[in-house]
Amino acid sequence: MNTFENLGLNPMIQQSLCEMGFKTPTTIQDKTIPLLINSKKDLIALAQTGTGKTAAFSLPIIQQLDEQQKQVQALILCPTRELAMQIAEELKHFTKHSKGINVTPVFGGERMDKQIRALKNNPQIVVGTPGRINDMIKRKILNIEKIKWLVLDEADEMLNMGFKEELDEILISTPKEKQVMLFSATMNAFIRKIANNYMQNPEEISIGTKNSGPKNVKHFYYTVQEKDRYSALKRIADMTPEIHGIIFCRTRLETQEIADKLIQDNYSAEAIHGDMAQEQRIKVMKRFKLKQTKILVATDIAARGIDVEALTHIINYNLPDGAERYIHRSGRTGRADKTGCSLTIINPREHHKIKIIEKKLGTTFEKKKIPEGKEVCEKKLFTLIEKMNNIEVNEDQICKFSKIINEKFNHIKKDEIIKKFISLEFNKVLESYKNAEDLNINFAKQTHSHRQKNRGSFRNHKRRFNRVNNKIKR
Ligand code: ADP
Ligand code: MG
Repeated sequence: MNTFENLGLNPMIQQSLCEMGFKTPTTIQDKTIPLLINSKKDLIALAQTGTGKTAAFSLPIIQQLDEQQKQVQALILCPTRELAMQIAEELKHFTKHSKGINVTPVFGGERMDKQIRALKNNPQIVVGTPGRINDMIKRKILNIEKIKWLVLDEADEMLNMGFKEELDEILISTPKEKQVMLFSATMNAFIRKIANNYMQNPEEISIGTKNSGPKNVKHFYYTVQEKDRYSALKRIADMTPEIHGIIFCRTRLETQEIADKLIQDNYSAEAIHGDMAQEQRIKVMKRFKLKQTKILVATDIAARGIDVEALTHIINYNLPDGAERYIHRSGRTGRADKTGCSLTIINPREHHKIKIIEKKLGTTFEKKKIPEGKEVCEKKLFTLIEKMNNIEVNEDQICKFSKIINEKFNHIKKDEIIKKFISLEFNKVLESYKNAEDLNINFAKQTHSHRQKNRGSFRNHKRRFNRVNNKIKR
């Protein structure tokens, strides 16, 4: 097992890492940090989601930065505002003990004046999204003519989101002599394109199998009729009271609708998507990270790079287009050696999509059954009882009310009291699952009727065939 000291990082950085709880480097850090400290060559680094790529590109920069020089020396570009904020935040932790290093995030949707002021403070590292960065360069507020390092984090997604023009313009403002680093969890044609356009003879480091998801994430799927998708989601959520996870939807509209429905149905959920004001997006993200909100309903803006500690579940309310997006979505769980669970709801016509993803990931999805109403009620009941068993009684305060409590309850028997208290919360559950149907599709039955139908059409086909033949015979 290697150490951060052996990788060539200074004691100030080591101190920060120690305080952050980083004990040993991850494989990608082990491979790239010494290389980036000792070589000026461009680099493409591919490693699975959640393996510490942020530290892998930023620690060598921090190590080699000239704190005395008050100008931008490193520019880190990434596709989403949330990711820019997160990277800047992590860099602030890494540089906590490295005096004189200043990091500034620059992203769209936030007031210009605040960011302009921050840029006038001469940061050495700027992290941002291509649109706003380009804007700041054009306004001559940001000068990147002397940068030594350019990082393209989740580079393919930047192209995918249509930032090609901005990237081209930004690249024109950079000096010829610089080290370009590209970090991603997936390899595709976009990455090749970026390497060809923006990099010179890059070195390539690839950890693990290309385009595979982390090994510590388990994949499950549920098949339901299209009309039952939302009810299935609710049952899954009800069966996992410990959930702290992201539900991915396909469109902004669907994201908002599902979040609204969940909120209406009393779940701790909030939406995040591109139609929301940035201020709102920041607030939602903050509440989710603090676990004040348990479920984040999101478009793929939350799929890339976002790191929320120990998420329990990723739920694909609808599958994304393409296996790569699935890899990034499910990679929000099972990060930094934790385990995770990625659940997908499909309709019977979407099985082939699961097959395609299985093939690309080199893993299998386990088929699961949507729990029946009774199972969900039992689970809810056990959770309630456990909650009741674990609740701490504030003896000091409650004793003041003991007399009243005893008076009010002395005419009711103990088991009656228990039932009543349980019913306080449980009645809602019983009511909502009163007439709950089995949401699972009975394939045996379906295949039978399907066969019948097919047999019918085969008969017709045969009849038509005979008729034609008869005609010929005649
Ligand atoms: P990636 O960019 O590869 O998806 P991140 O850089 O976001 O991954 O890191 C994932 C998580 O792992 C973060 O919470 C980060 O703080 C943590 N992490 C990174 N490197 C280490 C390490 N060497 N030891 C412990 N935790 C780490
Ligand atoms: Mg990342």
